[in-house]
Amino acid sequence: MRFSNLHAHSVFSDGVNTLRENVECAISKEMLSLGFSDHSYTACDESYCMMPRDYDRYLTEIFALKSEFCDTLPIYAGIEQDYYSDRADYGFDYIIASVHYVKAKGKYYAVDHMATIQRECISDGFGGNVMDMVRSYYASVVEHAYLTRPSVIGHFDVITKFGIVPEHSDEYLRVATEALRETARYCSVFEINTGAISRGYGTEPYPAMPLLSELRALDVKIVINSDSHAKENLDSSFDLALKCAVNAGYDSIHVFDNGVFKPVSIK
Ligand SMILES: [Zn+2]
Ligand SMILES: [Zn+2]
Repeated sequence: MRFSNLHAHSVFSDGVNTLRENVECAISKEMLSLGFSDHSYTACDESYCMMPRDYDRYLTEIFALKSEFCDTLPIYAGIEQDYYSDRADYGFDYIIASVHYVKAKGKYYAVDHMATIQRECISDGFGGNVMDMVRSYYASVVEHAYLTRPSVIGHFDVITKFGIVPEHSDEYLRVATEALRETARYCSVFEINTGAISRGYGTEPYPAMPLLSELRALDVKIVINSDSHAKENLDSSFDLALKCAVNAGYDSIHVFDNGVFKPVSIK
C-alpha cells in the first residue's frame, strides 16, 4: 500500500529537513502524496513555530515544489494550527488543529514538550490535580475544533505522552471520550498520529485504542499521519497505524486529494 502523510514538519518550524529534502525523500519512498504542516505562530512561545513573516515564503516555496513535481508527487500546503494561534485565513490547503499548551494561572505550559513541564503544570497550575489539567486540555481541544472547523484533528490525546496522565482510569476515559464526541461534531476527520513512536515516547499511536474504537462507532474518518520532524520518518510506523485502524473496526482510511478526503480500502 502506498502511504500519504499530511503531517510533516520542515525547517520552517521545528523540523530538521528542508521542504525539498522532504519531497525528494517522499518520492524515493514512493509515497502517494505529501502535505506540509509546519507549526503556526504562537506568541506565547516562539521557540518552535513559524514566524508570521515566514508564512508567505512557506506558501511560495511549497507552491513552487508543487508545480515542479506535479507529475511525480501531489504536494499540499497545510498548517498545524495551535489553539493559541490566530485564526486568520492564510490560504492553506488544509488545517490540522492541535493543542500544545495548557494555560493555568496566566502561564502557558507546553504539555507535549517535556515530562518536567507537564509535572510543573499539574503541581503549580492545578494544585497537584492531574485530572484538572486533563479537563482543561480537552476543553481547549473541543473549543479549538468549534472555533477553527479544521480539516483534521491532530494528536487528539497527546496529553498522555509522558505516562503521567492515568489514561486507563475510568475517570480519564470518560472525560476523553466525552471530549472526543464533542470534537467530532465540529470535525469529521481525525488523524492516527505515529509521531511519538519515532521519537521514542511510546509504542502506540494517538489516539489510544479505546478512543479510536469510539471514533469508528461515530463513523469519523481517519487519516494516517507521521508528524515527522525528519525526512526518514515521513512514513514511520504506518503499518502499525494501519493495524490499529483495522483493530478498531475500520475497513478504510482516507487520503487527502486536492481538497477532498477520499476513502482507501484497507480490507
Ligand atoms: Zn503537534
Ligand atoms: Zn506536528
